Amino acid sequence: MREQILGLITPAMALIFMMVFLVLWKRGNMGSYVLGFAAAYLFMGIGFLITHLVPDPGAFYVFHTTQVFYTLGTGALIWAATKRVGQHISIPALGVIYGVSALTLAAAVGMSDDTAPRLYIVNTGYGVMFVLGTMALFNVQRRNAIDTLIAVLFAVSAMNLLVRPVLTLIIAGGSSAADYRESIYYSVLSVAVTVASLMTGVTLIGACAWDQVINERERAERDMLTGLRARRAFEQDALAIIERAKQEGVPIGLVVADIDHFKAVNDVYGHQVGDKAIAAFGGVISNMIRNSDIAGRIGGEEFCILAWNCDGERAEAMAERIRKRFADTVVPGMVANQRLTASFGVAARQAGEGYGKLFARADAELYRAKEGGRNRVCREDGAGVVAEFKPREERREAVA
Ligand code: GH3
Ligand code: MG
Ligand code: MG
Repeated sequence: MREQILGLITPAMALIFMMVFLVLWKRGNMGSYVLGFAAAYLFMGIGFLITHLVPDPGAFYVFHTTQVFYTLGTGALIWAATKRVGQHISIPALGVIYGVSALTLAAAVGMSDDTAPRLYIVNTGYGVMFVLGTMALFNVQRRNAIDTLIAVLFAVSAMNLLVRPVLTLIIAGGSSAADYRESIYYSVLSVAVTVASLMTGVTLIGACAWDQVINERERAERDMLTGLRARRAFEQDALAIIERAKQEGVPIGLVVADIDHFKAVNDVYGHQVGDKAIAAFGGVISNMIRNSDIAGRIGGEEFCILAWNCDGERAEAMAERIRKRFADTVVPGMVANQRLTASFGVAARQAGEGYGKLFARADAELYRAKEGGRNRVCREDGAGVVAEFKPREERREAVA
């Protein structure tokens, strides 16, 4: 009886974890992986409940039913943990693992009453699933401490599931299911597994809570109109990236851009259309930079792009591509054949230069682009010689 009551702790914990994940998902407005964790703990909780409450633990149907729930739980856990870090786990592969172990289990249940072979079979199945999950988690290049801890805990689970049945075979031998559940080994094992799953659960909750903090911070640092970084966030990130570039000896290009004759847009069409033009320019920029570059809206209709591993020439070519694309972009609310243009200043980071000086040089080039007639890209090259892109098509007046 006491065993039975203690046995309820595990399913109760699993169901509590499930609720925490559900609350995090709902209140924190978080990704589907948090829901995946909730599902994982629900399935496992049901599996634990069946294992502990069913009167005939050796019965054929109990093994099969719990295997279904533990498989669903393990699958959901691995799916959610890998999805959280942008990895993809093959669900058909998990299905095949389940199929093989379910068939082997059916054969084992048909052949003998022993618990050991059954445990060996089902745990090997879960273990292989955890090996797949662990590999996917360690495959992530940029891992923070929490990501690594989760990967390590998954590796421990895989080891535990793959090595444990061998130990069980040695220690519990061929005892019956009921005897096995009375054994000291089973009690110790239950505690160890409970502690391990508690640690995993707490770590996953911590990870989701941390993700939420990061999400909130990123949301606060984003400019509402364009979804790009607001000025402060851009400058902070730019400083950090330049610091890294100094250490790694990677070239950095900086582009400053400003929409031409924008005051006239506001005057002719009103602020709302002006806002749409700003959003359109932000959209063009974010579509045309690489993942390793960062962009920010640093003023009303002024933008800045910091290009990683990019010399002056390539930064200039990027600015030119953005210029052309924006000059072809339709702004909702403006007359059909009218287009806006923007001017660009480009500078490549020189040895020892920080963000402030680099920005000042790019901004001076932007001024030159404006002076030179707008709708163009200007760059001062490393030797101080002026290289300038002349727009190929006729300069279009922004607003007639
Ligand atoms: P230039 O070609 O020399 O850049 O001329 P311009 O008219 O674009 O001049 P400037 O860059 O100085 O104009 C910026 C204008 O942008 C002034 C301000 O009214 C407008 N503005 C700033 N922030 C916003 C905003 O959030 N929404 C809208 N609609 N307009 C804004
Ligand atoms: Mg302007
Ligand atoms: Mg401006």
